[in-house]
Amino acid sequence: MKIFINPGHGGSDPGVCSRHNVFESDVALIIGKMLLNRLKLNGYPAVLFQQKEHYFEISKEENKSNATLFISIHCNGATSTAAHGVETLYYDGSKKGKQLAEIMQQQLIKTTGCADRGIKPRTDLHVLNRTNAPAILIETAFLSNENEEQKLVMQPEMFANAIWDAIKIYKTQNLI
Ligand SMILES: [Zn+2]
Repeated sequence: MKIFINPGHGGSDPGVCSRHNVFESDVALIIGKMLLNRLKLNGYPAVLFQQKEHYFEISKEENKSNATLFISIHCNGATSTAAHGVETLYYDGSKKGKQLAEIMQQQLIKTTGCADRGIKPRTDLHVLNRTNAPAILIETAFLSNENEEQKLVMQPEMFANAIWDAIKIYKTQNLI
């Protein structure tokens, strides 16, 4: 078992930028590193990779890694500051991906108190359709929403803990 953590965006692509100039790529990296250390501490093989130039690098690294789970961490953004909540995307047709997404979504809403926007099947996302391992993409919360920006910046450990708990549950259910 090996967990591949991909904090979203990076390099010249900062992703969503909040009204306070907080970048999605930075928040995702902080949560990703917290998760990486929780996995390392508990003996779970794990790697972290954030793109430098282009998102094609992500699947290339993942394909070399022999990972058994792929987790991409993002923050959401919308023009409406009212938009809020957590959602988890998975590759449509992947049974394991869907199972992981369901567990992940439950842990995230339970731990962070963010609203449940549900799990969503997607076929068009490179990180879901070009990765070998069961893959999910977590849209943790909205950086464009003031309340959720506060949570993401001041309590990133909540998100890392939720993801860590979901991985443990997934493993307990003998899915990896
Ligand atoms: Zn993103």
